[in-house]
Amino acid sequence: MKITVVGTGYVGLVTGVCLADTGNHVVGLDIDPDKVARLSRGECTIFEPGLTDLLVANLAAGRFKLTTNLVEAVHHADVIFICIGTPPKADGSADLSHIEKAVQDIARAVNKKTILVMKSTVPVGTGQWVEKLVAPLARHPITVISNPEFLKEGTAVNDFQKPDRVVIGTEDEDAAAVMKQLYQPFVRNNHPVIVVRRAASEMVKYAANCYLATRISFINHIANICEKLGIDVNEVRQGIGYDVRIGSHFMYPGIGYGGSCFPKDVQALAHVAREAGADGELLELVHAINEKQKSLLADRIRSHYGDKLAGKTFAVWGIAFKPRTDDIREAPALRIIESLLAAGAKVRAADPKSLDNLRKEFGDQLAYCGDAYDALTGADALVICTEWNEYRTPDFERIKSSLKSPVIFDGRNLYDPAYLKRLGFTYYSIGRPAVKG
Ligand code: NAD
Repeated sequence: MKITVVGTGYVGLVTGVCLADTGNHVVGLDIDPDKVARLSRGECTIFEPGLTDLLVANLAAGRFKLTTNLVEAVHHADVIFICIGTPPKADGSADLSHIEKAVQDIARAVNKKTILVMKSTVPVGTGQWVEKLVAPLARHPITVISNPEFLKEGTAVNDFQKPDRVVIGTEDEDAAAVMKQLYQPFVRNNHPVIVVRRAASEMVKYAANCYLATRISFINHIANICEKLGIDVNEVRQGIGYDVRIGSHFMYPGIGYGGSCFPKDVQALAHVAREAGADGELLELVHAINEKQKSLLADRIRSHYGDKLAGKTFAVWGIAFKPRTDDIREAPALRIIESLLAAGAKVRAADPKSLDNLRKEFGDQLAYCGDAYDALTGADALVICTEWNEYRTPDFERIKSSLKSPVIFDGRNLYDPAYLKRLGFTYYSIGRPAVKG
C-alpha cells in the first residue's frame, strides 16, 4: 500500500518505518527540514531501541522516503496518517492548530480518493471537525478515520509491531477493511483489531491514558500515606498486586509521571469533560497529585539541608521522563533541577541518552556528565530521577567515596533501605521511611 505519515516524531517515525518494513511504500512528511535531512541519511533523530536498524534497512530498500514537500507526499498516498503533536494550551485543552493547518493543506492537494487517519491524540469530535474542514477544500472524497496509537516510548517499535490491540474508529466499512489489511501483519498473534465508532475511538485513547495516569497518582497517594505511617509502600504494593482485579503493572511509586502524553491528556480530558457539562473532578485530582509529587524530592532535599542549598552541589542521575528514551518533555527531573538552581545549588547531570536535549533547556547552567560516576565528583548528594537499568546495582563504595557525604535522594525506589543503611548511607526514597547511615 502507499502510505504517507505526516509528522516524523516519536509516533510518525515509528509508524512509518514499521509500515515500510511490512512491504508498504511509505513517505514521511515533516515541516522540519533538518529532521528530514538527518532521517534521510539514516540518522535517527530520537533514541528508540531498534528504530535505527529499521530506518536504515527500509531507506536502503527504497520503501521509506522523507520529504518536506506536501504535494509530493499527498500525491504518493492512498492512506495518510496524521502524527502531528497536540500540545496543551494554557487552559489544558489540546492545541489543534498544527493539525488544522496540515489537514487543510492536505485537502487542497489530494488528487484521488484518500483515507485520512488521525493517529495523533485528539479530543472527541475532532474527526467530525476535520471532516467539515476538509470537505469544501478537496476535489476528491476524503474519509476521516481515527486510529489512536498506544506505543510507549522506550519500547515503541515492539509495541507497534506487537500491539495488544488496534483500535479503528470509523463507520465506513471500506476504510475499515483497508486498515485491517494494513495492520494484519502486526496482529498475527490473534490480538484484535477493534472497529468502533469514530468518536468512541477518540475517547478510547484518552480513557486509556487517564486510567494509567490515575494508577500512578493512586499509588503515589498511597505511598505518601504509608510514609507518614512508617510503612513500606513496596510491601503494600506486593500485597495488592497479586489480586487479579488490581495487578502490579503501572503501580510503582515515584516522583510522578511525565512525558508528552499523560500530563497533557489528563488535562485535556478534564477540559473536555467540563466543556461537555460532565464532571472532571477525578482527572483534576490525578493531575494535582502528580504536580505535587514532582516537587516531593526537591522539598525533601530542602528539608534535609534546612533550606541551605546555596553553594551545594547535587549529582542528578536520570533526566529522561522514563528509561530507554531520550525524551525529557515534562520530565520530573527538570522540575527538580530548576528548583535546585533557583535555591543557588549547582547540578551535575548524567543520563545515558538525554543530555543533548537537556543542554537545549539549560545551556551552561549545569555540568553535563557522560559518565554517571563523574557526576558524583565534588557533589554533596546523589539525586535519582529516572530508573535506568544501569543505576540499579551501582558501585556503592565508589558513590560513597566520591560524594562529600553519603546521602541519596531516590525518586524511583531503586535500592533496599536496610542495605543502604548498613553501607552507611542516609537514604530517602518514596513511600518508605528514610534511613540514616
Ligand atoms: P513529536 O513532537 O515527537 O512529533 C511531531 C512531528 O510533527 C514533529 O517532527 C514536527 O516537526 C511535525 N510537524 C508539526 N507540524 C507539521 C506539519 N504541519 N506537517 C508535517 N509535520 C509537522 O510528537 P509525538 O510524540 O510523535 O506525538 C504525536 C501525537 O501522537 C500527539 O498527539 C501525541 O499525543 C500522540 N501520541 C504520542 C505518543 C508518544 O509516546 N510520544 C504515544 C501515543 C500517541
